[in-house]
Amino acid sequence: MHIGLFGGTLNPIHFGHLRSAEEVREALGLDEIWFVPAAFPPHKQSETLTPFSDRLAMVRLATAPVAYFKVLSIEMERPGPSYSIDTLKELRRLHGSKAKFFFIIGSDAFLDIETWKGYSHLTDFASLVVMGRRHGDLERAREVISRAFPEHRVQDKRGIYVAPGREAIYFNPVTHLAISGTDIRRRAKTGLSVRFLVPEAVRRYMRENSLYAQPLPLGDKRDRSPEVLVQEIASEVSENKGEQVIVLDMRGRSPLADFFIIAHGRSTRHVQGTADKTRKNLRKRGIRCRGIEGEHEGKWILMDYGDVVVHLFYEPIRGLYDLEGLWSDVPRLTLK
Ligand code: ATP
Repeated sequence: MHIGLFGGTLNPIHFGHLRSAEEVREALGLDEIWFVPAAFPPHKQSETLTPFSDRLAMVRLATAPVAYFKVLSIEMERPGPSYSIDTLKELRRLHGSKAKFFFIIGSDAFLDIETWKGYSHLTDFASLVVMGRRHGDLERAREVISRAFPEHRVQDKRGIYVAPGREAIYFNPVTHLAISGTDIRRRAKTGLSVRFLVPEAVRRYMRENSLYAQPLPLGDKRDRSPEVLVQEIASEVSENKGEQVIVLDMRGRSPLADFFIIAHGRSTRHVQGTADKTRKNLRKRGIRCRGIEGEHEGKWILMDYGDVVVHLFYEPIRGLYDLEGLWSDVPRLTLK
């Protein structure tokens, strides 16, 4: 089976990605394309990154109508930055010789490949397919190949580079659709339409989940006092199965926030589920999480809501850090 791997931040997935994946599949006769959203892209700013669960959900919606498009959440299952070389190694290990992988990469990303971890070994595990999107891309890609993959030699005019004992590098021009995630996020932020840039199901998901800071629905209460905010967040944590929810009044004690909410889950999945649902439900009501940490491990997830910080622990880790013991003299709020 010949499988194309289409990675990237996919924030959000759009028709530029889908169309180019389709053209590569056709040109190389691939059986399937697996979309692999990066959980922690080493080259992108994590503070502004949309949570993995949302990006994954949109990739699932976008690819659902196409039988040969599949989705892999493999990069979420590995802690630390999502290096492509590690993903390729793992896929090789999992699938052995049953599958032949073609790692698809845009020429813009390929031009930076020398900054990637273990880049010269990528062709030990998969063929590379460089998508040319603009005039001159092939020439620029050639220079990179001669530096980064010096053993590869051009085999024919179609732009296939081969090297003994390694997988090939293909150059494949695709239709240039001038769509980018950055532009879509900017449009959504300013309330402009993203229709016909992303599949309809993705557009709806973005709207329903108020992704990319779209204007809040009318009637939403923007100005909550910290006292009201903390009650809303704490009850959401509790409704989403956060256990033993306590609220510490940190006013005058911590420069970080006015209130800390502490709760736990009985497994890391439980913790991740509580964090994910809490964040989504609050966002629907116009309460936005400014930053989240520890989401992928689920042992200690910290969600920053400005005046309120939520600490969600896996139960044994809560005992280990014992924040409530540390702040035993801090007043506690009762949940309304
Ligand atoms: P951003 O604007 O957020 O940087 P992006 O839309 O360029 O994002 P990525 O998720 O970073 O997309 O890219 C994933 C892969 O898709 C990369 O290999 C990139 O080169 C390629 N790609 C991105 N946009 C297009 C497009 N319009 N047409 C073809 N390929 C694209």
